[in-house]
Amino acid sequence: MSNKYEAVIGLEIHVQLKTKTKMFSSAPYEYGAEANSLTDPVVLALPGTLPVLNYEAIELCAKLGLMLGCEIADICKWDRKNYFYPDSPKNYQLTQNEEPLCIGGSVEIEMPGPSRNIEGKHRFVSLNRIHLEEDPGKLSHTAFDSLIDFNRAGVPLAEIVTEPNLYSSDEAVAFLNSLKNLILYSGVSNCDMEKGQMRCDANISLRAKRTSELGTRSEIKNLNSISNVKAAIEYEIKRQTQILNSNHLVAQETRRWDANKMQSFSLRSKEEAHDYRYFPDPDLMPVVIDRARIKELKKALPESPLDRQRRYQKDLDLPYTITSVLCANVNLSNFFEKALAQYDSPKAIANYIVNDLLRELASNSKTGDSSLSIEATKMKAGFISELVEVVELGIISKQIAKEVFSEMFQSGKNPKLIIEEKGLSQSNDDTMIKALCLEAIANNPKAITQYKDGNLKAINALKGPIMKATKGKANPLVLDTMLQDLIESLD
Ligand code: ADP
Ligand code: MG
Repeated sequence: MSNKYEAVIGLEIHVQLKTKTKMFSSAPYEYGAEANSLTDPVVLALPGTLPVLNYEAIELCAKLGLMLGCEIADICKWDRKNYFYPDSPKNYQLTQNEEPLCIGGSVEIEMPGPSRNIEGKHRFVSLNRIHLEEDPGKLSHTAFDSLIDFNRAGVPLAEIVTEPNLYSSDEAVAFLNSLKNLILYSGVSNCDMEKGQMRCDANISLRAKRTSELGTRSEIKNLNSISNVKAAIEYEIKRQTQILNSNHLVAQETRRWDANKMQSFSLRSKEEAHDYRYFPDPDLMPVVIDRARIKELKKALPESPLDRQRRYQKDLDLPYTITSVLCANVNLSNFFEKALAQYDSPKAIANYIVNDLLRELASNSKTGDSSLSIEATKMKAGFISELVEVVELGIISKQIAKEVFSEMFQSGKNPKLIIEEKGLSQSNDDTMIKALCLEAIANNPKAITQYKDGNLKAINALKGPIMKATKGKANPLVLDTMLQDLIESLD
């Protein structure tokens, strides 16, 4: 971007809440079900039907709001947003225009550091509000037909609206990653962007640097991956820079992103709020929010990912390289918590999870990344606690522990059972180790001379062959003492 301008970005993120049924009817929802199999007369807006509020949607949205530091409104009320489009059989969408359920709030983001191993700068991005609304149906277009699937219609959405408080595509990416992780920790949505559970509209404008008035924005609709958000923002910044540089005005419009062409296209000039003729829905009574329940929800909130990361660094003395991986994945860090509750050795447990467990997950997942969920495997948190314990007790070496780890991942057997079945416990058989030590000493006169001259590390050259002969089972402590004693007795 020419450095005359500064980009200003505001995001609107739609998140499908994990309720058992839709927001105003008892129809269930599940991604990927046969088209139009999850509807009912309310969803299809058949004459004579009336909506009935699903309170679970309010609970989940309030929980999300509390997690993001919002104020929760005293009442939850509904407005009709009127528009004519085939994705909405009612010809209006139930939403919250006047009074959103959640007000204000913020999301802490971490910008990428100078390298992956170094922590980046943190800051808070302000939110404007979070409101509830219904998901519309899903249209798809072929060369000949336009098809409509109403399965998604009526699924509760939380729409999270930021202030125009982001200033680059990288900040938008950091924000979305952080928000997604916060939502996953709160458990109110699965946020799977590929399944449409989280979608983002990006509003972008430019203004002259060091000015505060906002420029005219364009809004890119329905971005369905974080990489598309990044690409669309970067494209839009370039496009608007060119327009401004040629002394034209940016049009206030709604645009669509074409991920194949890596370009955005104008859809329509942006509608104003009055175009929707909002009015309070006459079929739904406002609901008074139970303050005691909000207090309860607030008390039961999980810690945020970044708070958890700070706690691991401060209280458990884990390095950033480990905590950043652990806390970026709620399943992984919950798994760590479970293992830690059973055996108090944070560093060793965290290492097994971040290195060995992630490696096994990656090599056993179809896509080759660590997206395979732990629950889909036979792995148990208790296995890791037990493994760390047997290593620390000297029952097996770290080398053997690697083998046990793979075995327990594959078989779902606990480490003690594997060690017993395979006879892996470290050998303290003195006679055998002594014989091997004597042989190693005889074969390595050079190392012995070096050791005697004060190079204590030279002794390591003797250990390799012994470990090999015992398949790693020689107890390293026994081995050390025995070698030293034997070498000294040579004089
Ligand atoms: P609408 O609902 O019509 O899209 P809102 O006022 O609710 O409009 O704003 C939607 C989003 O657009 C918010 O995230 C807001 O921060 C952002 N936004 C508003 N004006 C601008 C602007 N000039 N430049 C960038 N973002 C903006
Ligand atoms: Mg908008």
